[in-house]
Amino acid sequence: MTSNQKKLSFEFFPTRTPEGRAKQVVTRKQLSQFNPEFFSCTSGAGGSTKQGTMQAIQDILSEGVPAAPHLPCVGMHHEEIVDLLNEYKKIGVRHIVALRGDIPSGAGVGGEGLRYANELVSLIKNEFGDDFHIEVAAYPEYHPQARSAEDDINNFVRKVKAGADSAITQYFYNADAYFRFVDDVTGRGVDIPIVPGIMPIASFSKLARFSDTCGAEIPRWLRLKLQSYADDTAAIKALALDVVTEMCERLLREGVPSLHFYTLNQAGLVSTICQRLGY
Ligand code: FAD
Repeated sequence: MTSNQKKLSFEFFPTRTPEGRAKQVVTRKQLSQFNPEFFSCTSGAGGSTKQGTMQAIQDILSEGVPAAPHLPCVGMHHEEIVDLLNEYKKIGVRHIVALRGDIPSGAGVGGEGLRYANELVSLIKNEFGDDFHIEVAAYPEYHPQARSAEDDINNFVRKVKAGADSAITQYFYNADAYFRFVDDVTGRGVDIPIVPGIMPIASFSKLARFSDTCGAEIPRWLRLKLQSYADDTAAIKALALDVVTEMCERLLREGVPSLHFYTLNQAGLVSTICQRLGY
């Protein structure tokens, strides 16, 4: 990495087995060559992966890289969140990804706990001041449950005003949506870094399923072209690598603060994209 290059960060999800944990150590080692600003680890809403996330965060810190646990707050109570943040603080965490999260249907969590990410941001600020850098989620193509684009922007601005320090976006394959979103929120006084979340494409069917639920659009031309490759994974990967790398090049050229990669616990595609970008 040269000194004028933008920083990178990489996201993982917690593993369940000792083998998975060992494999993740190797994956992170490969991605460490890009001098990441931080590694983050997702967490299931309702505390469903609490131990796995804590383990991954401890591993990351022991490797000498700043670690950012995701904290989905929905259904959690004030005291539970303060306890968890105290635990994180004790082990050296200084960076939190503050989220609402999605309770899986039938999980039976909810009731009187926190309801929205802005409430979590306020809680962290009130209880911990500036102890944590607070990252929040942003949706350039809007959150799937938003009542309207306008309402979603207002809700994003609310959580920034509550004290968020920066934001990571949902993935997208349409850079114009990102730039429009940044313009819209900048016009409302938001001046925190809004970092594009980048999702490499390894499997079309998995991506299509996930995109339908999280509200990220796969452009029609790309969807149809990827579909036409059917089981030809080499062709899918080759096209997807070109498309994602070109989008990252444009994002960097037009001044994004940094890039955040959804690794899905794999180093291969992400490394290739970073190398093609000159990292
Ligand atoms: P919020 O900002 O609370 O918004 C949720 C919805 O409610 C939006 O439609 C918004 O418009 C609306 N809203 C917001 N505030 C209010 C308010 N005060 N009053 C009324 N309406 C409001 N999920 C996980 O479970 N674990 C993870 O680790 C995880 N990591 C993620 C990382 C990133 C970078 C991103 C982009 C998403 C991640 N998610 C994760 C998914 C996320 O939890 C879901 O998208 C969730 O549905 C919304 O979370 P949020 O923090 O954006 O919610």
